[in-house]
Amino acid sequence: MNSLYSRQSFLGPDSEAMIADCRLGIIGLGGGGSHIVQQAAHLGIKHYVIYDPQDIEDTNLNRLVGATLADVGAPKTSVAERVIFGLHPSADIVTRTMRWQDDPEPYLRACDIIIGCVDGTQERLELEALARRYIIPLIDIGMDVHVIQPESPRMAGQIILSMPGGPCLKCFGAIPEDNVVQNAYGEAGGRPQVVWANGILASTAIGMLVDLITNWSQTLSSLPYLQYDGNAHTVLPHVRLSHMPPNSVCPHFPLGKVGPPIFRNIVQ
Ligand SMILES: [Zn+2]
Repeated sequence: MNSLYSRQSFLGPDSEAMIADCRLGIIGLGGGGSHIVQQAAHLGIKHYVIYDPQDIEDTNLNRLVGATLADVGAPKTSVAERVIFGLHPSADIVTRTMRWQDDPEPYLRACDIIIGCVDGTQERLELEALARRYIIPLIDIGMDVHVIQPESPRMAGQIILSMPGGPCLKCFGAIPEDNVVQNAYGEAGGRPQVVWANGILASTAIGMLVDLITNWSQTLSSLPYLQYDGNAHTVLPHVRLSHMPPNSVCPHFPLGKVGPPIFRNIVQ
């Protein structure tokens, strides 16, 4: 085994090659996605498909790891490329500085695993629909901070593994059946994000990814939905898992509905 990765050789005799060969899709290169890029590159992944349409603003620098003051105004994708190429000069990176919905083919379809670091219910649902259609495991991460006066702000997040054939975001109850997330509480400022919570969520997602690739811990199937409590500093199996029937079949994404969508010409 290459000595570069000798400290993670416990992952298995073929783990270095399996990790290197994995094609990882990363959607969103903000606070969460920047940590994902950094760790995936250190881990040894050499094939990437990355999407983010945004340029770096100075207000991103509280959490966008790898970025510096000199990067303000540059695309977020440029920082991701710099981090990856700095560790793997011959890395295979498909860089799309745009919304993934505007040009998903054929790039996302070629991914082995996708990690979604996106805001909003609609985009999470759309990304999961794409991943299910192409039978690609999706790891979804996100966080939020709510204020319920007079209590201190509550910080919470989630890490969810949406496996083709397994429970989806709606099955888990992470997204309501009617797609509408009730904002019962006031947010603590506009879309709060902090570097340490982003790092915990991203690190846990990378841990899931390594398990998916190597199955070294053999525990992943029992822990697909984790909740982060930013006030207690804990990551635990989500309470909803205990209420789910075992081996439940997802009614939202029937296994028959896979492959590229077929559009019928309805104009005669
Ligand atoms: Zn479902």
